[in-house]
Amino acid sequence: MMLVDSHCHLDFPEYSGIIEQILDSMAENQVMYALCAGVSLERVPAILAMVEQHPQIFGAVGVHPDSQEGVEPTVAALVDLARHPKVVAIGETGLDYYRLEGDLEWQRERFRMHIRAALEARKPLIIHTRAAAEDTLRLMREEGAEGIGGVMHCFTESLETAEAAMEMGFYISFSGIVSFKNAREIKEVATRIPMERMLIETDSPYLAPSPHRGKTNQPAYVLHVAEEIARLRQIALAEVAEITTRNFFRLFHSASASIAI
Ligand SMILES: [Zn+2]
Ligand SMILES: [Zn+2]
Repeated sequence: MMLVDSHCHLDFPEYSGIIEQILDSMAENQVMYALCAGVSLERVPAILAMVEQHPQIFGAVGVHPDSQEGVEPTVAALVDLARHPKVVAIGETGLDYYRLEGDLEWQRERFRMHIRAALEARKPLIIHTRAAAEDTLRLMREEGAEGIGGVMHCFTESLETAEAAMEMGFYISFSGIVSFKNAREIKEVATRIPMERMLIETDSPYLAPSPHRGKTNQPAYVLHVAEEIARLRQIALAEVAEITTRNFFRLFHSASASIAI
């Protein structure tokens, strides 16, 4: 069995000095790879250093919609950073109307930059959307995101939103939230979408799944996300692992190019 954590933040201070331990726990849970998403341009050097040192880790470059400090990304800067062979995606990017208020036109402009960069770099998008499903889909359409595809990460929206994203060639990724007792709608979406479009993730250090809820999350715990999907769909854990791993390498095609699997 081989699992992949399609979204985490191993460059965050929570893991400084304990990366080897984190990688050991991954191996114990058969989590063979993890994709570390970017949240700011300032953190890119740390992500590149990590992916260069550890064959299990891939990277993505982007500026999170909640990042209010730091350098604003340009298409040229993102495309240039995406040339690194272990940078397999552009993101995370998207819209978040939950945490920030006021005129968020800058957030939409930043999201457009990322879509344009992904199309130019020929690397897929990692999209974060919260309380902004309608605008997220609208910008994806307006900028032609279906020309490159990607993933709707840590998905917490409706089945209709998932379907609209899948029509544009996007995958849907479930985090530990799917294992929470009260997450009825997300469990429903995870039961209904085609397995061929599903990815799994931890979004570490956030959102540790049951039975680790409330603790610092880590990529090893993607096992518990996979277990919950298996339970919901009444299929074997090994099947969830096989399909989601295959989906990961199909979407992030430059990841398969950089290793021999
Ligand atoms: Zn996110
Ligand atoms: Zn994230």
